[in-house]
Amino acid sequence: IARNPAEPEFYQAVHEVVESLAPFIIENPVLMKNKILERMAEPERVIMFRVPWLDDRGEVQINRGFRVQMNSAIGPYKGGIRFHASVNLGILKFLAFEQVLKNSLTSLPMGGGKGGSDFNPKGKSDNEVMKFCQSFMTELQRHIGPNTDVPAGDIGVGGREVAYMYGQYKRLRNEFTGTLTGKGLDFGGSPLRPEATGYGTVYFAKEMLQTRNESFKGKTVAVSGSGNVAQYAVEKVLEMGGKVVTLSDSNGSIYDPEGITKEKLEYVMVLKNAIRGRIKEYAEKYPSAEFWENERPWKAKCDVALPCATQNELNGDDALKLVENGCICVAEGANMPSTPEAVKVFLERKILFGPGKAANAGGVAVSGLEMSQNSMRLQWTAQEVDEKLQSIMKNIHDACVKNGKSADGFVNYVNGANISGFTKVANAMLAQGLV
Ligand code: NDP
Repeated sequence: IARNPAEPEFYQAVHEVVESLAPFIIENPVLMKNKILERMAEPERVIMFRVPWLDDRGEVQINRGFRVQMNSAIGPYKGGIRFHASVNLGILKFLAFEQVLKNSLTSLPMGGGKGGSDFNPKGKSDNEVMKFCQSFMTELQRHIGPNTDVPAGDIGVGGREVAYMYGQYKRLRNEFTGTLTGKGLDFGGSPLRPEATGYGTVYFAKEMLQTRNESFKGKTVAVSGSGNVAQYAVEKVLEMGGKVVTLSDSNGSIYDPEGITKEKLEYVMVLKNAIRGRIKEYAEKYPSAEFWENERPWKAKCDVALPCATQNELNGDDALKLVENGCICVAEGANMPSTPEAVKVFLERKILFGPGKAANAGGVAVSGLEMSQNSMRLQWTAQEVDEKLQSIMKNIHDACVKNGKSADGFVNYVNGANISGFTKVANAMLAQGLV
């Protein structure tokens, strides 16, 4: 803490991993001697920069930009860019730290990084978003590249923002390479990248449910968030025969006991992606739904919960409520949405709990596939990518089971994910010496 003051999320993420890996590291003195975990908790490089831009009124605006290049032991730095008013160095360090283990879990050759800005895209015109993205990339471009660091989207950064950033990158560097992922299909993007995190989370949950001879069929599912990850998680749950009853945003949650049908989901996609409205409007359009102002969705009775909004959005009380209401499975679409108290409840009550670094790895996995397609200068079909995604999620699940199963048969997916992700990076770091 003394070394990283005012970075509570980073401290929380590292603490969880240290706690979970401690027995494993004690058994492997070479890891202790070489201080592998301590080295992993120190970014290889942090870039912080000024992002000046002109708003539509002609006024000068200044934001702060970041890129945390955390670990390149197994591949180029890889991880999303977040635009949100809450972004600070500690949040990006936590995300970058998690990303290292997550990327290793995918079994693709990707190191870990994360970046972003405290720029708030809400209420900004297209023109303002473009100007901001161009200014942000004007500095970032000198630090990234297809073999160095390959950013992608995250909260507040979707297809529109990636396209603006890519346009500016290409203009400044005069090269058409796969330096960003999540690009449009017409200029190097991979089919299924927008869907990948949400779909992957549901594939992971499906694998977890299968270990208890359960499936999504007939299950009631609570989803939080209403952005990219949430939308495609809902789509896949519906395909698998589940009923989704909640969504949320930073103003509150909607509860629709009749279920969010395919048609209602289409409305949400237009509302959130084109109109950029609030989830509250769902309850105004569909009388079957209630709006819970400033509340999270976790009091809704459900069998499966998929937190897909943001960090620390599900606390110990929420976790207890979920379990008491009969929830048997939680898979994290978001990064670190469950607080340590919530994770403790899930593990003590022995429900199926898939931590984000495993459950939401589908997004970065398909980003890795986008990098491969760009290098080969070809594009796979959606079906090919989906098959690869399903197989990657199954492999991640199986690795978690292998490393997380205890004597009584209970699978601690937190330990499983941490050990599986850590081992490959640690071995690479050991082999590469003190760098
Ligand atoms: P989006 O920006 O598309 O959506 C984010 C959603 O979360 C919105 O509904 C937003 O509501 C809500 N949200 C954001 N911040 C808060 C907050 N402080 N309190 C309550 N709600 C909030 O982002 P994504 O769907 O891409 O990302 C969601 C999560 O998934 C993040 O944790 C991200 O790191 C993680 N993730 C994303 C991946 C991807 O491929 N996109 C890959 C792996 C993980 P509002 O509109 O009000 O801001």
